Amino acid sequence: MNNFVYIGRPARVVFGAGTLQQLPSEVDQLGARKALVLSTPEQRASAEQVAALLGPRAAGIFDRAVMHVPIETAREAREVARKLGADCAVAIGGGSTTGLGKAIALESALPIIAIPTTYAGSEMTTIYGITEGGLKKTGRDDKVLPRTVIYDPELSAGLPVGLSITSGMNAIAHAAEGLYSVTTNPIIEIMAEQGIAALGRALPRIKAQASDMEARSDALYGAWLCGTVLASVDMALHHKLCHTLGGTWNLPHAETHTIVLPHALAYNAPAAPEAMRKIARALEGKSAARAVFDLAKDNGAPVALRDIGMKEADLDRACEIAMSNQYPNPRPLEKAAIRQLLQDAYEGRRPA
Ligand code: NAD
Repeated sequence: MNNFVYIGRPARVVFGAGTLQQLPSEVDQLGARKALVLSTPEQRASAEQVAALLGPRAAGIFDRAVMHVPIETAREAREVARKLGADCAVAIGGGSTTGLGKAIALESALPIIAIPTTYAGSEMTTIYGITEGGLKKTGRDDKVLPRTVIYDPELSAGLPVGLSITSGMNAIAHAAEGLYSVTTNPIIEIMAEQGIAALGRALPRIKAQASDMEARSDALYGAWLCGTVLASVDMALHHKLCHTLGGTWNLPHAETHTIVLPHALAYNAPAAPEAMRKIARALEGKSAARAVFDLAKDNGAPVALRDIGMKEADLDRACEIAMSNQYPNPRPLEKAAIRQLLQDAYEGRRPA
C-alpha cells in the first residue's frame, strides 16, 4: 500500500427520511437561537416549510440564492442576517444555496446547517465560489464547511427527474476522479466505489418513479459519499474541463459534468486501469467510460455539448484554455487528444 494522508472533516451528518423534523434540535445542538433560512426563489415554499418548523427559532427567509453566488447577493444576505439577529443559517437547496451559505460563513463565521436537495455534494466540502465583476473566484477555507448536514431523501422527491439524473452524474464525476487522484487513499477509494454504485442503482429507479423513496435514499447516500471524495482529494482533467466550459461559456453545471465525464474517463483510461476497473465494477459494466455514458443516455440525460448551448467554433478556444493550466492528471495533457475529447463530447459520441 502507498503512503497516504487522510483528512476527516468534522461535519455532523443526520441521515434519513423524515430527519428534517430534527432541525429545531439541531439548531439547539449548535448553541444557536435564531436561524436565517436560505433558498432560491424557486424553492421559497421549502424555505417557508423550514421556517414554520423552526417556529420561534426562525429569524427570517432570504430567498435570492442564484447560481455562482454573486458577491452582492452574499453581502446582502450577510446584512439581512445581521439585521435580523440571526446566529446561524439554514441553507435548503442545491449547490447554489449551499454556496450562498458558504459565502456568508466565509466572512461572518455564522455556522451553517445545510439541507441538500440535489446530489451536487457541496455541503461536504470546504470549497467556495464567489462571482465578482463577472469573474468566479474559488477557494478552500475550513470556515465555510457546514457544521451540520441533514440529508432527508423526502426533500429530493420533488427534484425533477432530468435534474436528478444529471445531478447524480455530477456526483459520480467526483468519485470517479477521486479514484485516480494523485492524492487518493484507501478510505476515499472505498467511499468512491460505494458512492458510484449507490447512484448507479438509484438513477434508473428514479427515472422510472421519481417518488421511489428507497432509490432517493440510495442516491442521497451516494451523493454524500461522492461529496466527501470531492472534499478530500484533488480532482483532475474532468473537473478542470467542466470548470472551463461552465465558467467561460456559462453552460449548466450538472449537464456539463454529465456530458464530459465519459470522455474524460476514456482519455484517462490507459493511464488509470485500476480506477477504471473499480468504476466499471460499481456500475456493473465492462468499460468505465461506456458504463457512465450509457447510464446518462439510457436515463434521458443530454450527452452532447451541442445540445446544451456549446458552439463548435468555440472548441479550439476551450482546448487552449484547458491546455494552459497544468495540473496532475493520470495521463499527461496532449493537445490533439484533448481537442478530440472535446469534439467527441460536442457530438455526443459513445466512447469506443
Ligand atoms: P442548483 O443549486 O443551482 O439548483 C438548480 C435548480 O434546482 C434551482 O432552481 C434549485 O432551486 C432547484 N432545486 C434544487 N433542489 C430541488 C428540489 N429538490 N426540488 C425542486 N427544485 C430543486 O444546482 P446544483 O447542481 O445542486 O448546484 C450547482 C452549483 O453548485 C454550481 O454553481 C456549482 O459550481 C456548485 N457546486 C459547488 C461545489 C463545492 O464543493 N463548492 C460542489 C458541487 C457544486
